[in-house]
Amino acid sequence: MNYYSIDPKDHRYDNYVFFESDDDIGLVVRTQYSHLRCPVCKRMDTAKALELPCPAGVRIRGRHDLQQTHDGVYYCNSRTRQVLDDNGVSGIRYVQIPDQSDYYLIVPTWKCPIDRSQPGFEFVPPQCSKCGRFTEVYRFSRLTAMTLPEDPLVVFTPEISRESGSFTIITLLISEQVMKILKAGRVSGISFSKLAQTWPD
Ligand SMILES: [Zn+2]
Repeated sequence: MNYYSIDPKDHRYDNYVFFESDDDIGLVVRTQYSHLRCPVCKRMDTAKALELPCPAGVRIRGRHDLQQTHDGVYYCNSRTRQVLDDNGVSGIRYVQIPDQSDYYLIVPTWKCPIDRSQPGFEFVPPQCSKCGRFTEVYRFSRLTAMTLPEDPLVVFTPEISRESGSFTIITLLISEQVMKILKAGRVSGISFSKLAQTWPD
């Protein structure tokens, strides 16, 4: 069985969940999430933040079916959710965007255990003295380092997230079977990258 990452295609809008723009000072964290920011490194605890309801004021611009916000969260429209639900795809939960009833944030619920002794990670210091996160984490998703879900219809995410600057970037991984479901459903806004077995290839 082959596995793939769901890669958002480039698009012209920088949508955000955890931040809003302030005309005077640029991006500011939404008040609903301010307590989830590390006081030292200022990074958002994305997993905890996604346990909360999506606040009013979050707006998705652009017309793709499935995409990712600039702060690392996947979202989709109700047509995409229907495609996934109709085919029994699981491993994710949907959070309604209150101002746009057609859109949902996608929260991965199946975290794939990773064998950290295998190569394929780069943790860029410094490590935050408070929350322990590194400034950047590059992760090269290789199948031999992962414990994959037995059910091919389960969407999953690696337990070690990619970190980039202020943001944790969620990655959704899928089996070839789920990729075919998304392609047959003509879900727009994404492409797919095949995961290699080992590192290096
Ligand atoms: Zn921190």
